[in-house]
Amino acid sequence: MTSTRRAAPLLLAVLVGLIAGCGAGAPMRSISVASISESAAAASGSAAAAPNSAARSPGTHTARARERTILLNPGHNGGNSAHPEAMAKQVPDGRGGTKACDTSGTSTDAGYPEHAFNWDVALRVRGLLNANGINVVLSRDNDTGVGPCVDVRGELAARVNADAAVSIHADGASPGGHGFHVAYPNPARNAAQGAPSVAMATELRDALRGAGLSISTYLGQDGLAPRADLAGLNLSQRPAALVECANMRNAQEAATVSNPTGRQLYAQAITNGILNWLAHNPPSAY
Ligand SMILES: [Zn+2]
Repeated sequence: MTSTRRAAPLLLAVLVGLIAGCGAGAPMRSISVASISESAAAASGSAAAAPNSAARSPGTHTARARERTILLNPGHNGGNSAHPEAMAKQVPDGRGGTKACDTSGTSTDAGYPEHAFNWDVALRVRGLLNANGINVVLSRDNDTGVGPCVDVRGELAARVNADAAVSIHADGASPGGHGFHVAYPNPARNAAQGAPSVAMATELRDALRGAGLSISTYLGQDGLAPRADLAGLNLSQRPAALVECANMRNAQEAATVSNPTGRQLYAQAITNGILNWLAHNPPSAY
């Protein structure tokens, strides 16, 4: 299984990755995590990338990318709000302390919940990634359960041998603020949380901006937010980033996230960012 992962200097690694992808005998990495849904790649090499990523042509890397896996982590869960005792459980925060298991997330003023948005966007991203030959593991099976806690989510990418982890959320900030931001773990606790995580956050930022979505007016800088307080990022041993797609308390963005067309826009942009990251970050031994 590790034969498809190679440690090599950056420039050589790109070449090695491309060559490895052409090998007919390269084994598909198996994923055997109970109760975690996983979709094998639908090997369609014809899925089109959005215009903003066309220049980088992620589709041309499909043969290599078919062997790769992304952990998608849709934030919260539909049953969290009914189980406050489970949410209050203290879990490791990844920086020597503890924090609550999770929260129930936010919602629009009209009551559309964040967990439903996160779940819907994650399923859309999974479909788009699968169509590009990428394996996807989800951190939860449905939108009606409870948990898992943030520490379990954070450790999951390494557990399933994913190339990277992308968490999907929406924010609940002051109604006057709007726009997306992408968080990454900082200070980095391991090599995967350093440059590769910053690169994932940057690719996601660029793809969201390329889709015409606006950068946060209230948090982060230029759409990026280094964070030390997010256990799911702190505990990741693989490159990880967390997208706060929108401010659900902002009227205009509430309308967008509540609309399937709007959710597809976010999903396509997140997919493009992941594909671009995969194209520039060949398999390596984190
Ligand atoms: Zn959230």
